[in-house]
Amino acid sequence: PSGSEPATKIVINLERLQQLPADKVGPLARYAAAIQSQRGDYNGKVLSIRAEDLRSLAIIYDKSPGELTDQLIDWGVLPPEARPAP
Ligand code: C2E
Ligand code: C2E
Ligand code: C2E
Repeated sequence: PSGSEPATKIVINLERLQQLPADKVGPLARYAAAIQSQRGDYNGKVLSIRAEDLRSLAIIYDKSPGELTDQLIDWGVLPPEARPAP
């Protein structure tokens, strides 16, 4: 894929996230849970997060924000449209 551009609008699929093994998505799942807790937003199927949060998560996963975007699309946690058109 051309890839490696960070997502601009980050809407996490929470149902998909729960289906994936914790050894892969553990840090992301904990991050999303923390944001849900801070907002009191527990009932959604999706969670919109800040672009700044993608940068923080990329550091945690030792990837660039663009590489992490590609990984999240591969996992089905972000929709393919999350990758900006080149
Ligand atoms: P949208 O951004 O396309 O979001 C569509 C639907 O996805 C939302 O419908 C909601 O059911 C879900 N959704 C998206 N992000 C989250 C999230 O972080 N938590 C939860 N629990 N659900 C989420 P909803 O709520 O009826 O909103 C319809 C539209 O109204 C949104 O479309 C957006 O255009 C606007 N909107 C709602 N809340 C906000 C907001 O906080 N900021 C802005 N700028 N627009 C908002
Ligand atoms: P805060 O950053 O001081 O934000 C206070 C309130 O401003 C939020 O209350 C929300 O109503 C609004 N707000 C701030 N930035 C945005 C934004 O980009 N879009 C929208 N729609 N609203 C915004 P809320 O949602 O109850 O969040 C409380 C606190 O939880 C926030 O205080 C922040 O410390 C944390 N938090 C919530 N969601 C996120 C997130 O996605 N990322 C990060 N890093 N922190 C978050
Ligand atoms: P959104 O609400 O449509 O906000 C779009 C962009 O407007 C945000 O992108 C941010 O750059 C700016 N923005 C909106 N409200 C505020 C604010 O109160 N303070 C500041 N400094 N900037 C604001 P960003 O940060 O990438 O966030 C993307 C989406 O994540 C937001 O879309 C919203 O759906 C969600 N989000 C982010 N932070 C919070 C939060 O604290 N609480 C809630 N409920 N949602 C948040």
